[in-house]
Amino acid sequence: MAELKNELTWSFSRDRLFKDCRRAYFYHYYASWGGWNKSSDEFCQKAYLLKNMRNVDIWVGDIIHQILKWVIENKKAGNHCGLDEALTKAKQMLMRTWEQSRSKLWQKNIKQNLNLFEHYYGPELSRDDLAFKMTKVTKSIRNFYSSELFSSLSNISQENFLAVDELDFFDFSGVRMFAIPDFALKSSGQYILYDWKTGKPTDKDVLQLSCYILYAENKWAVSSDKISVVPVYLAMDEVLFKPVVPVDQPKVREYIENSIFEMRSVLTDKETNKISIDNCPKTKNEWSCKKCRFREICL
Ligand code: SF4
Repeated sequence: MAELKNELTWSFSRDRLFKDCRRAYFYHYYASWGGWNKSSDEFCQKAYLLKNMRNVDIWVGDIIHQILKWVIENKKAGNHCGLDEALTKAKQMLMRTWEQSRSKLWQKNIKQNLNLFEHYYGPELSRDDLAFKMTKVTKSIRNFYSSELFSSLSNISQENFLAVDELDFFDFSGVRMFAIPDFALKSSGQYILYDWKTGKPTDKDVLQLSCYILYAENKWAVSSDKISVVPVYLAMDEVLFKPVVPVDQPKVREYIENSIFEMRSVLTDKETNKISIDNCPKTKNEWSCKKCRFREICL
């Protein structure tokens, strides 16, 4: 098998980490590279372990995403999964993965088992906090089932289900740009990309979703006027579909080009994507450190 190469790639989350803390970016994208291999050094394996850690909000969001993916894929195949079935599956998933983390099953297999920040660093979640998170999962799934989008899925032909939560990429000026649209469908000649949100609307959503337009243009070779992106805020009292007015595409391109330029500027060898920790200073933002997965190795 060809050897895996650590290449400079671009994604919205990579850009966010780069801007949030250069040192965390170094640990995530460079120091952890190869840490899945037992022959790698101890620091690299530790960085890999920490990179794969999830905090409780990301964990809850992942479960909601997985359930919706399962529901939609079944719809695409012509099967209907009832709300009760979806809720039961979500609860089982929560309990199974919580137990993986609590009993440190990740020590045997990091990728296959959840490692929760709250178990690793503490403090552990109280019963009330955990119950609240469970409510968020239940509410989000219920809200999805009560939406018009869900009702309309039965009337969509298979070929118009374009993508369901799959990691994809395209070439952007010689750099792989990654995107994971949660759900994309074609309707009356329009390409609609939905993004499940389990938090509240933020200013960053618009830029992130504008990047999806770039992805969709490349993926389906359509012009941006035929593409809409819709964040769906699932955990509100009522599900909220809030179509965004995207940032102009030349501005999105310029943003990404600048971001790639900055990421390249911290490399010591641009050809081989080599970096030095000295080019990656620590953030001064204490709040970022408090919730950072890498704080154990960030001395
Ligand atoms: S602990 Fe703070 S400085 Fe260190 S990597 Fe994390 S966010 Fe950055």
